[in-house]
Amino acid sequence: MAKIIYVDNNATTQVAPEVVESMIPYLGEYYGNPSSIHAFGGDVGLKLKEARRELSDLIGADPEELVFTSCGTESDSTAIRSALKAQPDKRHIITTSVEHPAVKNLVEQLGKEGYRTTTVPVDSKGRLDLVYLYQNLSDDTAVVSVMWANNETGVIFPIEEIAGKVKEKGILFHTDAVQAVGKIPIDVHKLDIDMLSLSGHKLHAPKGVGVLYVKKGTTFSPFLMGGHQEHGRRAGTENVASIIALGKAARFTAAHMEEENTRVRQLRDKLENALLDKIPHSMVNGDPENRLPNTTSIAFEFVEGESILMLMDQHGICASSGSACTSGSLEPSHVLRAMNVPFTAAHGSIRFSLSVFNTEAEIDFIVEKLPPIIERLRKMSPFWEDAQLKDRMIT
Ligand SMILES: *Cc1c(COP(=O)(O)O)cnc(C)c1O
Repeated sequence: MAKIIYVDNNATTQVAPEVVESMIPYLGEYYGNPSSIHAFGGDVGLKLKEARRELSDLIGADPEELVFTSCGTESDSTAIRSALKAQPDKRHIITTSVEHPAVKNLVEQLGKEGYRTTTVPVDSKGRLDLVYLYQNLSDDTAVVSVMWANNETGVIFPIEEIAGKVKEKGILFHTDAVQAVGKIPIDVHKLDIDMLSLSGHKLHAPKGVGVLYVKKGTTFSPFLMGGHQEHGRRAGTENVASIIALGKAARFTAAHMEEENTRVRQLRDKLENALLDKIPHSMVNGDPENRLPNTTSIAFEFVEGESILMLMDQHGICASSGSACTSGSLEPSHVLRAMNVPFTAAHGSIRFSLSVFNTEAEIDFIVEKLPPIIERLRKMSPFWEDAQLKDRMIT
């Protein structure tokens, strides 16, 4: 395989080598069922227990508050549906206009099923209208679901404040923290969070494993019924190897969080500043003051994001335009639309998301290759000609 420069870590991450190593014995030699009475299975159960503790340490939870799931999407669905089932007389859901499809599409579906839904808007920097959120809290509200950090722009929401305000009204609060866990410190017991979702493959564990944190005492209704696994909260024989890998990944990200917030942040800033400097008519989408350390979404006006991606791909550079789910269609992402990013900028927006595996040489490579790509594409863009004419008229 040719060398790739991977800056698409909000889509998925490289499984850390020690994480791969940690799971291999449980795909081979140790195949016992963790629920078995015999020691061959029971030992696997003990290993799962260890993974549960490693993960709970990462987010400040108690081990028994974690439910292992198959992915972030399952965690989100379980949380929101559980909140509704547990309070059948409450018919109102509050969420935001910039959620991942795992929450957005579910809430839209619930709207069709007869629930009343409120979608909290964001401003042009992607910041939530908190006044609107608080005004809409009512006796009828079953659950408020607000993501911790946005996957496209990296914008971090004030979860501590929101959770506190929601709690004051006695309403359940869920946060999709898939992009936040492992990148910024999280301590669920210090905040009024009832449920939190995370996903393994966004933090250097494999795809196909996630966690739902459910605060002790929260009424819970399982999504999958069957065996007694996960204390009856999620039936189905555990994805043993992946859960063990996730435990290891929790330790890996905890050990690298400092680096993520220093070296990785500096690389992100270097990339962003160099591109803004070298490429006219480019700007950052989102709130530069309140962002994940690894993410930058940059709009290159008057070009098509998909074309930029294809030309970068020829150099082995892997990035993303909007979210993976919107790629392939010419609609700009719902996040950039919610922020009212102008049409000509939204279409040319690229998300770069770094990880601790990136190097300075890789950033230098992108800074060398991208400006000529944008220039080449703009030469073919009718919008660009118009913009140049306007620039000349102004100056
Ligand atoms: C990736 C992602 C998800 C979905 O997680 P999966 O494990 O892929 O189902 C949910 N929310 C956010 C914010 C994400 O970035």
